[in-house]
Amino acid sequence: MIQCRECGNTVSDSARTCPNCGIDSPGGSCELVIIRPSLGGGAIGLTVYVDNTLYGDIKARKSMTIPVSAGQHHVLVETSRGKTGTTTIDVTPQSPGKLTLGISQLTGGVKFS
Ligand SMILES: [Zn+2]
Repeated sequence: MIQCRECGNTVSDSARTCPNCGIDSPGGSCELVIIRPSLGGGAIGLTVYVDNTLYGDIKARKSMTIPVSAGQHHVLVETSRGKTGTTTIDVTPQSPGKLTLGISQLTGGVKFS
């Protein structure tokens, strides 16, 4: 749960609007940055979902910036070979969320750091 930046009402982390005062992004606008720095497993596609919403594929040596509300977010990454990895990350206006993706050479699964 987070506090609405406008009215102070307690609202769900995932609320897009405050049920009390109705403003958008009650926790404030934040960013979640997802980075895939290395070419390791470059032939394997990685598809990013945040809070069950598809944000698209991320290529090697690219990053993706996703606007999110403050609070905790669920991140799921699926490889083009059918493996998935999930994690949760806390994002606040003061500290953008940052996730670095890799692919495990042992299992072909997704690594987060
Ligand atoms: Zn409010």
